[in-house]
Amino acid sequence: MPSDSVLRIVWIYPDLLSTYGDQGNVLVLEQRARRRGIDTETIHVRSSDPVPESGDVYLIGGGEDRPQILAAQRLRKDGGLHRAIAGGASMLAVCAGYQIMGSTFGGEEGQPVDGIGLLDIASTRGPARAVGELVAEVDAALGLPTLTGFENHMGVTRLGPGVRPLSRTVKGTGNGDGYEGCYAGHVVGTYLHGPALARNPALADLLLAWRVGQLAPLDDSRYEALRQERLATVLAD
Ligand code: GLN
Repeated sequence: MPSDSVLRIVWIYPDLLSTYGDQGNVLVLEQRARRRGIDTETIHVRSSDPVPESGDVYLIGGGEDRPQILAAQRLRKDGGLHRAIAGGASMLAVCAGYQIMGSTFGGEEGQPVDGIGLLDIASTRGPARAVGELVAEVDAALGLPTLTGFENHMGVTRLGPGVRPLSRTVKGTGNGDGYEGCYAGHVVGTYLHGPALARNPALADLLLAWRVGQLAPLDDSRYEALRQERLATVLAD
């Protein structure tokens, strides 16, 4: 991103995928960029509109089964997201949005539905709904602190060789194979709600840094105290 321009945050399909306060991820990104003097512009892309290719960071949230299927169909047809990611944009995809990024996911009757093929993952309906707090240790290559959040999904996700697990599950279900989420290039997929970036500001900074380069440190001591309190409570449970 050129230093004199604005960081464009693109929130995909708020009319279809916007459960559990995932839109809070937009606010966290805006705030963390602005606190460093980076101007931001946020674009809300409804599912009837084309996905702009000029965004810097793309966000997509969780949702119910039917809107999830509709979102996958429209994103595939649109193609803008693929072009933006191929052009170097970063992205956080949460829960239903995460599943959509793969080759396939389970529909409302468990039927296989085509995803958009941005990540080398495949999801199906699991044996039981995964609900509750999630704690996971992040891949050392990313250098991020422990992830916290909550999950609520039926799907389980198998990772292919084209992605790396984002983290190893300490508490909760995540992908269903001992790992939580995945990443490839500048795209992160996760089952974490919370919103994920409010609970894990370092993950927000990773998405920003991938796009704008090194970031000035922020005083996060207030949030860190809350994070530690939450982690201690969940791990003691
Ligand atoms: N419908 C998907 C599932 O149950 C995603 C749910 C969600 O986004 N919370 O796996």
